[in-house]
Amino acid sequence: MTKTPAYAALSATTPLTHFSIDRREPGPHDVKIEILYCGVCHSDLHTARSEWAGTKYPCVPGHEIVGRVIAVGAQVTKVKVGDRAGVGCMVDSCGECESCKAGLEQYCYPGNVGTYNGHDRHSGGHTFGGYSGSITVTEHFVLTIPDALPLDAAAPLLCAGITLYSPLKHWGAGPGKRVGIIGLGGLGHMGVKLARAMGAQVVMITTSPEKAADAQKLGAHEVILSTDKAQMKAAEKTLDLLMNTVSAAHDYNAYQRLLRVDGAQVLLGVPPTDMPPPAVGRMIGNRLTLAASTIGGIAETQEMLEFCAAHGIVSDIETIRMDQINDAYERMLKGDVKYRFVIDMATLQAA
Ligand SMILES: [Zn+2]
Ligand SMILES: [Zn+2]
Repeated sequence: MTKTPAYAALSATTPLTHFSIDRREPGPHDVKIEILYCGVCHSDLHTARSEWAGTKYPCVPGHEIVGRVIAVGAQVTKVKVGDRAGVGCMVDSCGECESCKAGLEQYCYPGNVGTYNGHDRHSGGHTFGGYSGSITVTEHFVLTIPDALPLDAAAPLLCAGITLYSPLKHWGAGPGKRVGIIGLGGLGHMGVKLARAMGAQVVMITTSPEKAADAQKLGAHEVILSTDKAQMKAAEKTLDLLMNTVSAAHDYNAYQRLLRVDGAQVLLGVPPTDMPPPAVGRMIGNRLTLAASTIGGIAETQEMLEFCAAHGIVSDIETIRMDQINDAYERMLKGDVKYRFVIDMATLQAA
């Protein structure tokens, strides 16, 4: 074990502060990564404040981790010391179930091990995330970051990027498909860029007129103001696919009206409170799908990174110091970030 500096929430109601955690020395299949940047996901805030219940303290959030390999176990073949590497939302899974064998570790039957607040199979305690100096991860869950991608702006691809890439691919976004992205935040802005690069006609659906121009700059072909009844009416039955990135409780049924026959709406945010039940009548009448999805498997995450490198896609970021994290959470709640905070982990020691 090595003592490693970190930033942690010690309870649901106290700000994050300096903390020290133990990281294991690399076993034969382990990779130790010096963390250079860590993206700030809405899940970090939900978990730090136990808004989904079940948070174990101390809680060290962070699952958009990029850095450099500083040590590898004797059996490791995927990376070597000095390589650019990343860790997303998972650090382990059973490796034996139907999902794991299919490369869908995120849907591991007994459950994947979250990068933070998961059950650590090595220490027996809970896992600590990327708001820390280093992380030791089994080789299978390490991603390599293509040279074409800047490390800081690539960090959010590991959660926000794959959360959109996987369902866009699964539900067939591409040429000839009209894809609506609901909500322009960390997830939504990745959805616009990725769907555009996949060749789809991209329609931004937002509640705020100020975001229309931003959405077009990011690559949206069209914008629908969801607060404008006439615009929503005119857009009925015009879309094949909806990526719903809203993480607050809301009535997603209003968007089902935008779907053509056989259309699908995919829920990607996890609201802390219950949402209204589905309007089944409309779904039956148009053979609609209401679906949900989370991140992607390890192989698909690597594929997404290569896709982003090939298409010049990264997240739009604002870099912060470690000691600005509590303020950053408050700004996230107000939607005051374009579109992802990324912590420069070099500021951890000084914070
Ligand atoms: Zn996340
Ligand atoms: Zn499994």
